[in-house]
Amino acid sequence: MNDNIFGIDERLLKMSEDILRELKPRFEKIDGITEYNQYKVVKAMQDNMVSEAHLNGSTGYGYNDIGRDTLEKVYASVFHTEAALVRAQITCGTHAIATALFGNLRPGDEILSPVGKPYDSLEEIIGIRPGRGSLMEYGITYRQVDLKEDYSFDYEGIREAINEKTKLVTIQRSRGYDVRPTFSVKSIGELISFIKNIRNDIICMVDNCYGEFVDTIEPTDVGADILVGSLIKNPGGGLAPIGGYIAGKKEYVENASYRLTCPGLGSEVGASLGVNRPFFQGLFMAPQVVNGALKGAIFSACLYERLGFECNPSSVAPRNDIIQAVVLKSAERVQAFCEGIQKAAPVDSFVTPQPWPMPGYNSDVIMAAGAFISGASIELSADAPMREPYAVYFQGGLTFYHAKLGILMSADEMLKKGLIDYTFNE
Ligand SMILES: *Cc1c(COP(=O)(O)O)cnc(C)c1O
Repeated sequence: MNDNIFGIDERLLKMSEDILRELKPRFEKIDGITEYNQYKVVKAMQDNMVSEAHLNGSTGYGYNDIGRDTLEKVYASVFHTEAALVRAQITCGTHAIATALFGNLRPGDEILSPVGKPYDSLEEIIGIRPGRGSLMEYGITYRQVDLKEDYSFDYEGIREAINEKTKLVTIQRSRGYDVRPTFSVKSIGELISFIKNIRNDIICMVDNCYGEFVDTIEPTDVGADILVGSLIKNPGGGLAPIGGYIAGKKEYVENASYRLTCPGLGSEVGASLGVNRPFFQGLFMAPQVVNGALKGAIFSACLYERLGFECNPSSVAPRNDIIQAVVLKSAERVQAFCEGIQKAAPVDSFVTPQPWPMPGYNSDVIMAAGAFISGASIELSADAPMREPYAVYFQGGLTFYHAKLGILMSADEMLKKGLIDYTFNE
């Protein structure tokens, strides 16, 4: 049933129907994971006796903010950790990671990334690219072990890289803007076990951005000491207007809190203002929102593979985050893809996305988003660094139907601009 009010090419609509028919069993499996996670979140709220009073906020110093403190207990329950810091004062995912790192590292310590290069915006925090106030300026060193050619962990290299200075290992679950696959929670668990077997006191931190609620387990269920993420991605459920979280062992979360505010004050201060309600409600909605985003990602891989483009993950690969990369191989196609996504947006549908030198990234980036929360990538959005191989990274969609519309519009835009050389005969 489709009145095609957006004027999408009929051949694309036909293709879409075929794809959805084939995806039925796979979508049912995703629904099963979502149902499990929905119950997990509700149970965490009940166990911590969330009540109406917790939905209100505090002002000023924010002492005794029972809503904020209860929300943090709920996050700790959901992720099965001792503690959590869930704050509007954590401005984004990068800030959450930086806070956890600065809070837990001291001069002379070394960080190890055993999974290759971290997310672009972390390079200046660590000091891989010169960054004012980087960890490197504070005498904290960094080592990296790249993945093997087949993207498996280089266990020998990791063993050799670990030394007496190694204090913290940072593992990025999602691929970010890289071409490697996103790691499953299970494989992250194997990596953590390997590291803990070498030295049990090494702190294992996982950047969980885009991974929350994609699986029934999270990295803290398989040994991660610190878990970090953004609330304008999965766990905010599209309702959180800002924020990040740091969940994990009490000591490490407290260390991070002394960095987020200051020594002595830690998590005692930090007024929640008006965000407790959307933080609670967003977490409640998050499993279902992730469900739609995940289905959208799989749908797009199916569609773009049929149109002749390489997709990563492929349409049949298992999923460990909500990101879909489509290798479009030209700047013009990236531009058209993003224009199509933008045209499907509920907000700012009439603007044309343009590449720009975004702070923290080392090449121009084009972004398409017409979001209720500025920059929220749990909402339908696409971004691409303007560099080879011209891969566009697509994610989000607060509902599956909106994600589907955006994907169809992106392909339609390319078709109408003559950028897809495709005859539609399978
Ligand atoms: C989004 C993301 C971050 C943090 O990004 P922000 O834009 O600062 O929220 C970090 N790591 C990964 C893998 C990400 O996807």
